[in-house]
Amino acid sequence: MVITIDGPAASGKSSTAQWVAERLGFQHVDSGALYRAMTATALRVSTDVASWTASALLEADARIALQPGAKSFATLIDGECADAEMRGPDVTAHVSRVAQMPDIRAWVNERVRRAAERHDVVVDGRDMGTAVFPDAALKIFLIADPWERARRRLIQRLGRSPADDEIAEETDLLVQRDGSDSTQTVQARDAVLLDTTYLTQEEQVERIVALAHAVSHRPATG
Ligand code: C5P
Repeated sequence: MVITIDGPAASGKSSTAQWVAERLGFQHVDSGALYRAMTATALRVSTDVASWTASALLEADARIALQPGAKSFATLIDGECADAEMRGPDVTAHVSRVAQMPDIRAWVNERVRRAAERHDVVVDGRDMGTAVFPDAALKIFLIADPWERARRRLIQRLGRSPADDEIAEETDLLVQRDGSDSTQTVQARDAVLLDTTYLTQEEQVERIVALAHAVSHRPATG
């Protein structure tokens, strides 16, 4: 069974997907982590971003692994966890450009499809319910107000309540990334839209788990 959770940057997709996967006994796959790993590896090779091409970037294919774990697939670079680097500002600043390369999208999609062959999965990203798993059993599209997304992202990063000017700066960055990612962020026609602006994470997880139970009890058609 495949559940897809798509939506814009910092809408809480990954943490929600991880939690839902844990509740259902599924594995979580973070497709954005593959774009981030590809971007981090590219930066290790060359910081001359303008010269990057998909074919040069894809030479890093064997350096990046999507490895099943206890609850989530881990994305490793050269066999090691590189989360801090992958989530850092340099990678975040360049990842949208890498994600716009069709050959890189095909590479990520193939990796994610392979992960779903042997496991029940909750996959999060931008186009999982459209480009990659059009027949997914359940598709969720998560949205939240940009200010609230920025506030949550800062609390996660700083471990304290951010000031309004910090939230404003982060909102500006998020909205810019929304713009860069707009072509690849697609809500499937059969996705359930979930606005989490006024929901706690527990509430959003409960709703998705309830929807997953509902679809798994749905009588087979055709
Ligand atoms: O989800 P996250 O913010 O970590 O994703 C990082 C970047 O990867 C996004 O800004 C977007 O450019 C790209 N992405 C994508 N398609 C996906 C997942 C992520 O284009 N399915």
